[in-house]
Amino acid sequence: MHSLLTTLVIASLPTVALAGGKGHKAHEHGTASVNIVGEANTVTIQLESPSEAIYGFEYEAKKPADIKKRDEAVEKLKANADKMFILDTSLACKLIEATVNPFVTEAQEAKEDKKHKHKKGTHSEVHATFKFECGKPVAGSEVKFAAKAQFKSLRKLKVQTLSGETQSGSTIVNDAGSAKL
Ligand SMILES: [Zn+2]
Repeated sequence: MHSLLTTLVIASLPTVALAGGKGHKAHEHGTASVNIVGEANTVTIQLESPSEAIYGFEYEAKKPADIKKRDEAVEKLKANADKMFILDTSLACKLIEATVNPFVTEAQEAKEDKKHKHKKGTHSEVHATFKFECGKPVAGSEVKFAAKAQFKSLRKLKVQTLSGETQSGSTIVNDAGSAKL
């Protein structure tokens, strides 16, 4: 029952994050959204970033040089997730899973939004999920950020945290500030 609940909570997060606005909005370059869910000894972080901030362009990579650029950025993202999202060291958290979808187009996301004016293929996003397993319960701990330190165009993070039944939001600019689980 407990693990089922966790799955449901994670699955419903994007909806929660969008509930304040009217459907999907075009992303803002330099701004990524970050959903952080703390549950018992685990932390799950979902990152949705404009592709431009991760690998420098938003069209579909077809040329070998572009594919190389994209793939290298994906590897960098996976390898540095625990440096970009800094969990309290006393929790002894380990990154146990990193999945990255490097090309999510707005056309796919905005299917239901008829008012969406962007041309097909104009924008794309990188969606990633990182799972951490920790040595202690994570509730009440602090998360710090060094996303811009890894990807210099990632200037702003719109962070939503969900820990137990507590949900909160904060905006991190130039890696300054923290979020609480
Ligand atoms: Zn874009």
